[in-house]
Amino acid sequence: MKVADIINQKRQEGKPSLSFEIFPPKKSDTLSNIDETLELLCDLHPDFISVTFGAGGSTRNSKTVEIARKIKETYGVEPVVHLTCLYYTRAEISDMLRELECAGIENILALRGDRNPDYPAKNDFLYASELVEYIRSQGNFSVSGACYPETHLEAENPVMDIRNLKKKIDAGASHLISQLFFDNEVFYQFCDKVRCAGIDVPIDAGVMPVTNKAQIERMVNMCGASLPTRFEKILKKYEDSKESLLDAGLAYTIHQIVDLIANDVDGVHIYTMNNPAVAKRICDSIRNLV
Ligand code: FAD
Repeated sequence: MKVADIINQKRQEGKPSLSFEIFPPKKSDTLSNIDETLELLCDLHPDFISVTFGAGGSTRNSKTVEIARKIKETYGVEPVVHLTCLYYTRAEISDMLRELECAGIENILALRGDRNPDYPAKNDFLYASELVEYIRSQGNFSVSGACYPETHLEAENPVMDIRNLKKKIDAGASHLISQLFFDNEVFYQFCDKVRCAGIDVPIDAGVMPVTNKAQIERMVNMCGASLPTRFEKILKKYEDSKESLLDAGLAYTIHQIVDLIANDVDGVHIYTMNNPAVAKRICDSIRNLV
């Protein structure tokens, strides 16, 4: 089922969609290592699960399709395959699309991917909008795109970033998933601006539960998410106690999600970091809201 249809269906029930992001296991792991994770996550009945894809030259990319196929065939949950384009030619992307078609994958999150100084870009695709257009020309896929409530780090300014986002929608993206953020007000203001720019597709809010301080600091460095004072206080007070930080961090995330739902968010997308125990604690707290 196409993600846009899933979201519409949930809308008619007056509820937001709930989705998870997972990543393929590291090179040395076998696919069976992720089976237990998938089973536990799928038991939580998300509306879809998205599977990440390396920016370029990654041997883990072949596992993305394999895992997505498993999510669909073994667990009956709709998968979304992330696909990056900066380091692939049109012919390579075309081959991947045929592979996805054969695996029965209907949903793709089309991304540019981060630049990697160790690999030369192929230059067939410069921006995600070009990949969106190409995918739409190649088959009957539902295409989603990424968006950035706190502006993409390379963008000239927030206005240009939203103008560029509109190009992605005009190219055929029918759904957006946001970068993680910790301050809902930032997300609400972003949505207002995006709607004013004429973008009317559903926008899922990306939420990352805090499980440890180092992980959050790494993510914040990578994506530039700002930390509200009440969030920083939690990190500071419990930085030396793993269990307490997990309790307080989860309480923060659950509060964040409840507020998003109360403000009629289209969907909640949880960056699970492949941690089903954390996802379960969140889902148990919002079961009747999604
Ligand atoms: P784009 O939409 O192309 O935007 C990139 C930059 O170019 C922005 O600054 C934008 O303003 C600008 N731009 C866009 N179009 C134009 C134009 N026509 N002219 C001038 N400037 C333009 N990375 C991975 O490697 N693998 C993953 O699986 C993955 N999953 C992700 C999932 C989500 C939900 C998100 C939010 C990000 C994910 N990323 C992933 C990271 C993503 O690849 C990076 O953030 C990357 O730097 C930008 O990708 P994009 O698709 O948003 O790019």
